Amino acid sequence: MSKISSLCVYCGSSLDVDPAFRDAAQRLGKLLAQASVSVVFGGGQVGLMGLLADAALDAGGEVIGVIPRHLDEIEVGHHTVTKLHVVDNMHVRKELMFRLSDGFVILPGGLGTLDETFEIITWKQLHLHDKPVVIVNTDGYWTPLLDLIDHISAKGFMRDGREPFFRVVDSVDEVLPTLAAAPEPQIAPEIDRI
Ligand code: AMP
Repeated sequence: MSKISSLCVYCGSSLDVDPAFRDAAQRLGKLLAQASVSVVFGGGQVGLMGLLADAALDAGGEVIGVIPRHLDEIEVGHHTVTKLHVVDNMHVRKELMFRLSDGFVILPGGLGTLDETFEIITWKQLHLHDKPVVIVNTDGYWTPLLDLIDHISAKGFMRDGREPFFRVVDSVDEVLPTLAAAPEPQIAPEIDRI
């Protein structure tokens, strides 16, 4: 993909996790800032999300948060990012994060991260978009999920396997090179259908 201006990062809102996951969030934030790629994220200052945003800001990067009003307080919206969109609800949040981003990166996270990940992958499966998606399998965190997806595929519920829908890398250092090698998107996203 020739030009990536902005990347959406889905990651956990917990901080009480393996240091390797915290390091990955901080390193990715720094790498994206250094590459002048804007970070689009869930807008909270908690957990990996907050570490990612702070690391990108510290490295001089642009960070755009999108948080629904009701979570602004629970997740303590990150109000010192470059731009924080406070939106009406989760659906608007997801749609705006999608529209603002040239691609998607998944770091370790919990159920919210899983929800966001599956949504972006299933929209791709439905040909609603073909923006690149990269799953960062830090310390094998996502291996059980990948095994489940392969099982789903082997049992015939996912016709083409996972290859067309996302790439898996072991380290955040591989994210930008992987995206650079991804094919140019061919589908103009039809937001009305999402
Ligand atoms: P988690 O991975 O559960 O720590 O959540 C990470 C991010 O996902 C946070 O920004 C949450 O607001 C968001 N999130 C949590 N639950 C959901 C959900 N059901 N749908 C979409 N996003 C969610």
